[in-house]
Amino acid sequence: MSRVAVVGAGTMGNGIAHVFAQHGWDTALIDVAPGLLERVVGIIRANLERQVKKGTLTAQQRDAALGRIRTASSLEAVTDAELVVEAATEQPDVKFRIFRDLDRVAPPAAILATNTSSISITTIAAQTRRPGQVIGMHFMNPVPVMQLVEVIRGLETGEETVGKVVEVVRLLEKTPVVVNDAPGFVSNRVLMPMINEAVFCVMEGVATPEAVDSVMKLGMNHPLGPLALADLIGLDVCLAILEVLQRDLGDDKYRPAPLLRKMVAAGRLGRKSGRGFYVYRD
Ligand code: NAD
Repeated sequence: MSRVAVVGAGTMGNGIAHVFAQHGWDTALIDVAPGLLERVVGIIRANLERQVKKGTLTAQQRDAALGRIRTASSLEAVTDAELVVEAATEQPDVKFRIFRDLDRVAPPAAILATNTSSISITTIAAQTRRPGQVIGMHFMNPVPVMQLVEVIRGLETGEETVGKVVEVVRLLEKTPVVVNDAPGFVSNRVLMPMINEAVFCVMEGVATPEAVDSVMKLGMNHPLGPLALADLIGLDVCLAILEVLQRDLGDDKYRPAPLLRKMVAAGRLGRKSGRGFYVYRD
């Protein structure tokens, strides 16, 4: 395979397109937000430039990678893709509609992958007439830096699809870990309760955000404390994932901390809004 289409060019989509293009794939990057795509290509250029400065990429490789990316505002750009990676907004109805449309316009042999953090792969696959070729490809943020891709097998995902996607992840010089479809998969099933508990500690006055994060960094060897990580992920995204865990696992141990709800309601979403548990001036 050598042709990929990435649907959604936000935080994750631009990183995913960057990594595919850097590894030689013809990459179509699709988004419906007006004016976003020009900005995103600028972000990818700046991130590739950083790699050149670090000496991990040559200027020639940077230019070749940029030359492999074309942008589009409609799903018609997937008509020659062998693999589609959807990284659009984390809302079930948005993703379901995209997969129904992709099933119509993507070549019949194409694999349709989703980067969802929490929506059921099995349910997304059921929107298409090719559930055996639908799979979760869960990249981590920031995509060019992080090693892991959690590969999620839906109930109907074929073993051939799993094998091909595992191979693609290795070609991207990342490490695939295959898991079965379940709410939050493994990554968010384990991570989100920790973040939520950290928020409860702040809410109940057990400790300040700085103290909670210091305990986890210095005591547990985490490179980033849970609250700084929540700010990076986005507090709205954390809240949405906890709601899915609570609802779909039917267990109140996943109930989101009221302080998390309050911060999201106030627009304190973390890095992307300039303020979460910490303040970001840039
Ligand atoms: P984001 O809000 O930054 O970007 C989403 C993009 O999708 C937006 O630019 C939006 O315009 C676009 N979009 C919406 N509807 C579309 C459509 N019909 N066609 C094309 N584009 C469309 O979100 P994000 O943080 O990049 O997250 C994308 C996906 O990745 C979500 O499923 C999220 O759960 C998942 N994810 C996020 C993270 C993270 O740390 N942010 C980590 C892993 C996975």
